[in-house]
Amino acid sequence: MSDPRFTRSADYRARASKVLPRGVSSSPRATQRPMPLAIAHAEGARVTDIDGRTYVDYALGYGPLILGHNPAPVLDAVRRELSRGLRVGGITTGEADLAERIASMMPSCAMSAFVSTGTEGAQLALRLARAVTGKLTVVKFRCHYHGWSDAIHLATDPAEDGPSTAGQDPDALRHVIVLDWGSLEALCALDPREVAAVIMEPAAINAGCFEPRSRFLRGVREWTKANGVVLIFDEVITGFRMAPGGAQARYGVDADLTVLGKALGAGMPISAVSGSEAMLTPIIEGTVSQRGTFNGHPLSVAAANACLDHLAGNAGDIYPRMEAYARTIALHVRDAAQRTGAEVAANQAGPCVQLFAGTRAVPALRDLASVDKERTLDLTGALLARGVATLPRGMMYLSAAHTESDIDATLAALTEAIETIR
Ligand code: PMP
Repeated sequence: MSDPRFTRSADYRARASKVLPRGVSSSPRATQRPMPLAIAHAEGARVTDIDGRTYVDYALGYGPLILGHNPAPVLDAVRRELSRGLRVGGITTGEADLAERIASMMPSCAMSAFVSTGTEGAQLALRLARAVTGKLTVVKFRCHYHGWSDAIHLATDPAEDGPSTAGQDPDALRHVIVLDWGSLEALCALDPREVAAVIMEPAAINAGCFEPRSRFLRGVREWTKANGVVLIFDEVITGFRMAPGGAQARYGVDADLTVLGKALGAGMPISAVSGSEAMLTPIIEGTVSQRGTFNGHPLSVAAANACLDHLAGNAGDIYPRMEAYARTIALHVRDAAQRTGAEVAANQAGPCVQLFAGTRAVPALRDLASVDKERTLDLTGALLARGVATLPRGMMYLSAAHTESDIDATLAALTEAIETIR
């Protein structure tokens, strides 16, 4: 059934699907309802598709665009860098500038190793932890996501503890133990002499925007420290987003290794694995090899330096505003559920919101079983049809570019969209 509002995107999709798997370049993009839209241009917190429809954008490129689309300080820095040429694969002075900036914003991150994606960053962090400790076992938590490498792509769905896609080598996961996030008892029951690392998103954003219990986070920190286990915070989403110093600043608990990405580059591909010099010693000594043709890409480094400068210089305005907007959106959904009896819910963690359908509250990860994923996709599809773009699975990122009027438009669209899925 063709929808006249999306004619050009539908035509594009038909053409693209002949030459790209599912017509997209990253599988989740294909799940968008009523269909994945091809974007023509974007500015601030708005994107315009090739049919000429404009949306308030909370997908933000799946998270990197913390300053919105086309932020002037970042584009200026990238243009300046580009005018010097594409100096890829060498050393540029911006790399140390960036590592120094990261260290000044995140005290546990005295030294940084740059790679291009969060997936690579998580893999490098695990290698460092195993090399530093001489141990093999890695603990990860159910529904946390650390990229799609064979080393750690498992248990991303509440119903499935095994590999998250076909084609993975199950042996690569032999030394990964999956636990419930929030259960200190399960962690403390392990023999720490076997455990190299505990990796987690310090706020479980991918699972559905859950903030940690302070007792749990502190307990994990104490257990890992006491037992020579490396605590890895995967701050690919939360870094520079929850606070200038990331989730570790928000919750007051430091990691041994931190994986950064997304917001770091403001839209350019860059990730960092950061920690003390001691944690990065295997790279210094050459026992762990840090590889990547595009590592420290000058355009990404320039974008990241400009982004962090802007975030640090405007933190007092940006962070409270993003969080207040996120809270307003989540409260609006909860009110609508109460008022109308609709089965919808919203979680909020800092400037991130997760919409759910099929249930009226998802207070903890174990409640994810009550979520209706299909109806959640319908809800975000109904929002898209009303001019609001989210991740298809219901996640929304706030940015520094969102305004009061964007939020007003969003609340109106939410009211209508919730009505359609009742
Ligand atoms: N870790 C977390 C917490 C993420 O959210 C993501 C991406 N969504 C990754 C790692 C992987 O990052 P990338 O997509 O850049 O490989």
